[in-house]
Amino acid sequence: MNIVEYVWQDAEGEIRGKTRILDKEFVGKPIPKWRFDGGSTGQATVDKSDCILNPVRVYTGDNVYPVVLCEVLDSNGDPHPTNNRKSLQYSFQTDREDTWVGVEQEFTIAHFAGGPFSPHLNSSKQGNSYCFPTNLAENLVRTHMDLCLVYGIKYAGFNSEVTYGQWEYQIGPDDPVRVADDLVVSRYFLRRVFAYNNIAVTLHPKPFEDYNGAGCHINISTKGTRSGEESLMNLAERFEEFHFEHMEAYGEHNELRMTGKFETADYDEFSIGVGSRNTSIRIPDGDDGVYIEDRRPAANVDPYSAFHEILSTVNCKKEELGNE
Ligand code: ADP
Ligand code: MN
Ligand code: MN
Ligand code: MN
Repeated sequence: MNIVEYVWQDAEGEIRGKTRILDKEFVGKPIPKWRFDGGSTGQATVDKSDCILNPVRVYTGDNVYPVVLCEVLDSNGDPHPTNNRKSLQYSFQTDREDTWVGVEQEFTIAHFAGGPFSPHLNSSKQGNSYCFPTNLAENLVRTHMDLCLVYGIKYAGFNSEVTYGQWEYQIGPDDPVRVADDLVVSRYFLRRVFAYNNIAVTLHPKPFEDYNGAGCHINISTKGTRSGEESLMNLAERFEEFHFEHMEAYGEHNELRMTGKFETADYDEFSIGVGSRNTSIRIPDGDDGVYIEDRRPAANVDPYSAFHEILSTVNCKKEELGNE
């Protein structure tokens, strides 16, 4: 049987998927394009609803059928306006710094045991569930990890988070297109694993006002920082000038999360610190660090838009400084 699961991002960046049994004529050939109803995903109008799924990366492994990540094209075959992967690909091709990124995807349980979930259910104080094995649904977090690893996603680890009902997993480091693709597919698996067990998770940056929100820290290194030729402070300082452009690309409702409290920096103010968890950028403490951590991105960040901004910043600033 030749089963393929097509996966793509809708207008909101949420992940959609549909499954197809390929006819014999396609066996042994590249996975063909397909169509979907863009009127139901915010990507087209009902009267002209066809959008095209163009396979861009195939995920496969032992004893599983392939999952194919697709970019969305309009019915003329041009990149759809919601297709942010195209612009990332462009900046990736012109990246002179060999930038690597790694992400820390936080997420929060929203519905559990048939009703809305609240961290107030837990009587221990906030922080006690960070890296502590009493958090909810660790079995599903592990199932999700196994699925990611089977499919060759560059999954790097997980931990339970500060807010009860909140988790984090990491992906990378690798080149930005690979990490963005892996993150999108991992989010699809995340929804699937939890939904199969009647639990809903959310990537909302601030599900509960009085608890830590959910981010998606992006860690960044360049060939300069990895070889020791550029200091981490130098790399971090390149980001200051573009603070507001970055905030635009770092996720919806992020202002609810970035209050300067609960281990965040102020939304409106750029800051750098060493070992600090209340600054925009954290430089890991000690002399063995090779990457910086951008703590601003929200859990619902679109990785293609964010990495596009980051690559533009890392490369363009260098040019302005005349350091080429
Ligand atoms: P934190 O202390 O912020 O919680 P984690 O241990 O959760 O850090 O995550 C570390 C992150 O750093 C991972 O996402 C990993 O992919 C990323 N990372 C590791 N090495 C590099 C590197 N050379 N360049 C970019 N990112 C990296
Ligand atoms: Mn982390
Ligand atoms: Mn975290
Ligand atoms: Mn972090």
